[in-house]
Amino acid sequence: MNSSDKHSLPQSKVFVEGRYRKLCRDLPQTVFFCPECKGHPRRRKGCVRCEGFGKLTRDSVQELIGWVAGAAFKTRKNKFHGAGREDVDVRMLGGGRPFVLELDNPKVHDVDLAALEAEINRRNAGRLEVLGLHWTEKNRVRVIKETPHAKEYEARVAVEGVLDPARLAPHLGQRIGVVQQTPERVAHRRADKERERWIELRGVAPVEGSTDWLVRLRTEHGTYVKEVISGEGGSTRPSFSELAGVACRCVELDVLAILDDEGQAEAKPPERLAFGANLE
Ligand SMILES: [Zn+2]
Repeated sequence: MNSSDKHSLPQSKVFVEGRYRKLCRDLPQTVFFCPECKGHPRRRKGCVRCEGFGKLTRDSVQELIGWVAGAAFKTRKNKFHGAGREDVDVRMLGGGRPFVLELDNPKVHDVDLAALEAEINRRNAGRLEVLGLHWTEKNRVRVIKETPHAKEYEARVAVEGVLDPARLAPHLGQRIGVVQQTPERVAHRRADKERERWIELRGVAPVEGSTDWLVRLRTEHGTYVKEVISGEGGSTRPSFSELAGVACRCVELDVLAILDDEGQAEAKPPERLAFGANLE
């Protein structure tokens, strides 16, 4: 090849797909750069917000996977593409969330993905697990980012007063349409609009030794679940609080399953998941 061919060559990339389970409540999905200095090498030095660290959390799902994968592929540059994302303080359990890791200009290509997966899991025991790592192609990035998924959640709910489960019984298993305004916590980065979504109440159970309740629900893609619980002063209607007839607040949230757009379990089970591993 001549030198002009070399110039026009796209950079070499490899794409690895898998699922991640996030077992802790202090991990963002991607690198959490400081909003003041954006992590810029020079600007961060005097930054008061992050005290020169450049980031607001020590690590992220992207970094915990990327550090180990980067060492194996011998590249420091990667992009992380998730099939949606959960909040920093929300655990991702069950069969995990699909992701594609895009590695730029790796110097090594013949990486043993099963060994890489085992090493990521060994290094992050109790915080993060990956499963089903396999080779994939660029077009999967668009597919996993654009495919809408319903989700199943378990919320730990604090109740101001007494929750009577009999009051919720008629709603169990029913698909309920809700109208939701953009929550205040994201209004600074999302356009304020009204959206219609469905939710499905799957079950409620008291937490032993506490006045809190556990609430299982499925929601359509793009539903703000914490606000479904509280109602946020009427900005989600009806809310769980409204159905229960008592003010409720989500204090902990777990994603239990990534479902298809209709709210059914995905037809294709995650690869290499041990039988029964995602049963409760
Ligand atoms: Zn900063």
